[in-house]
Amino acid sequence: MFHQRLTQIKETIQASMQRASRPAAETPELVAVSKTHPPEALLEALDNGLLLFGESRVQEAKAKIPLLPARCRWHFIGHLQKNKIRQALPLFEMFHGVDSLQTAQEIDRIASELSLFPRVLLEVNLASESSKFGFPSESLLREVDSLLQLPRLQIEGLMTIPPPAPDPENSRRYFCRLRDLRDKLKSASGIPLPALSMGMSNDYAVAVEEGSTLVRIGSALFGSRAGTAWKPAAADSLDG
Ligand SMILES: *Cc1c(COP(=O)(O)O)cnc(C)c1O
Repeated sequence: MFHQRLTQIKETIQASMQRASRPAAETPELVAVSKTHPPEALLEALDNGLLLFGESRVQEAKAKIPLLPARCRWHFIGHLQKNKIRQALPLFEMFHGVDSLQTAQEIDRIASELSLFPRVLLEVNLASESSKFGFPSESLLREVDSLLQLPRLQIEGLMTIPPPAPDPENSRRYFCRLRDLRDKLKSASGIPLPALSMGMSNDYAVAVEEGSTLVRIGSALFGSRAGTAWKPAAADSLDG
């Protein structure tokens, strides 16, 4: 079952790469979004060759990570609350959802205390949805200089979640806008910004056509999610 889903996803990604004439060497990395799923589900992914997992809650990830082999890699894909930054920084190799100058400054400050250089993506709220986190495009262009002054932050690119749409074609314009914004920031700042984290279960085919370098796929891989975070069973934390 898992194997079939993974094969289908890889084929879809390949087909998008070909349609867009993107070279195979640029095939995006698949972030297996494992939030809410128990460690057994991740072990199955691991058996199928996946090593890169995406989690969106610090507590949940913190409980899960020690239960999986050390070769697993972890990306934080959610909104990072300020009071969780200290715990989160050592756990994840990349943070996709850095969504305000204040959060970026706080990450930089704590990273300095912990002697870390976190790799981050800036989340952009392209449709200015009030329900969503992220830099509005204009403020990102305004704040990029302040962001680049943060010595600990390795800013590697941009991330977005388009407004919900039944037809993935509706998301295309947002993926194009993210790529354009990246190109603008790149020429304004002179830093390379290679990463575009865009595409989820229902729209990754379009995102890959528009230049995605990281697709974040949950339900198309693991099946539908329980509403709540995974927790270790209470008995696990008792003696024995
Ligand atoms: C949950 C989540 C995903 C995965 O969503 P699916 O639709 O299940 O693929 C991707 N990105 C972010 C930021 C998420 O929170």
